Amino acid sequence: MLNEFALIKHYFNRPAPEGYLGVGDDCALFAPTPGWQLASSVDLLIEGQHFFPDVSPFLLGHKSLAVNLSDLGAMGARPRACLLALSLPSVQPDWLEAFSRGIFQLAEQAQCPLIGGDTTRSPQGVVISITVLGEVRPGQALLRSAARPGDDIWLTGTLGAADIALRLLQGRLPADPDRLAQCRPALEQPWPPYRLGHALCGLAHAAIDVSDGLVQDLGHIASASRCAAVLEWDALPLDPGLDGLPLALRREAALVGGDVFQLCFTSPAERRDEIMALARREGVSVNRIGSMQAGHGVHLRDAQGLRPAPAQGGFDHFGA
Ligand code: ADP
Ligand code: MG
Repeated sequence: MLNEFALIKHYFNRPAPEGYLGVGDDCALFAPTPGWQLASSVDLLIEGQHFFPDVSPFLLGHKSLAVNLSDLGAMGARPRACLLALSLPSVQPDWLEAFSRGIFQLAEQAQCPLIGGDTTRSPQGVVISITVLGEVRPGQALLRSAARPGDDIWLTGTLGAADIALRLLQGRLPADPDRLAQCRPALEQPWPPYRLGHALCGLAHAAIDVSDGLVQDLGHIASASRCAAVLEWDALPLDPGLDGLPLALRREAALVGGDVFQLCFTSPAERRDEIMALARREGVSVNRIGSMQAGHGVHLRDAQGLRPAPAQGGFDHFGA
């Protein structure tokens, strides 16, 4: 069996790009772009709580980094580097090989090299924590507090598929293999639009990545910006994987379903054309799903009128 150092060397040590001192010393080194601000974020994924023990290790590696790139994008930051803290009950070579491939493939694509980490044993199960470092020009970060009344609310991608996949995998919905096949990639292999997030600097006001549910996350923008968010039900891009499900379930999946890892942002109405053009260039689908207004809270307009949007069901780790 590999010892800790051999394991790191074998699975996680790849030559760092020029300008980086990567894995192998007590700290990694790289020079931030002069004059830019550093953006940093960390996430923790625990077996049995954030992922199923039997999930594809390749997809798990991808998702572990993707959820962090999602945070960078939501800040308007561009990726510069990542660090991996990994805790394992035992060394499973096939698992480690696929897991590291999942991380490295996305890291390369995002130009976010893995420059360090820590590896330990944890009898209770796999624990994964990735830290990302990115950068943004001073004053250009997309803050939750920057929305203004009158702003359009935009959303990338579609809603609800990850939530439906999770319900199917947990047996909370009757088995439906076709629907599961359609929805599962959204849950297991999210592709957050991190490049678009950075490109939106100077165009968008506020942004957040949808991880805990649209209403809950948009609620963070509304409260930080001291205004109200009004969502238009007919404008919400429901994933085709929701077709044919009862309306109440589609609503709940779209409004409170988590694990979306798409970008929700606000921007002045006069920038609509620029946003559409930018999204087209980046190959990202965007929809205008509502507007910011004076007031507070998140509201939903549908055929029945306007009322507070249900935030219930949005995932809260310490909730009842
Ligand atoms: P230290 O004891 O000084 O913290 P370690 O022995 O834990 O150093 O790690 C040795 C080197 O390997 C360090 O450069 C560290 O950043 C890197 N490293 C450890 N675990 C990982 C990992 N899972 N992924 C990437 N790099 C890692
Ligand atoms: Mg160490």
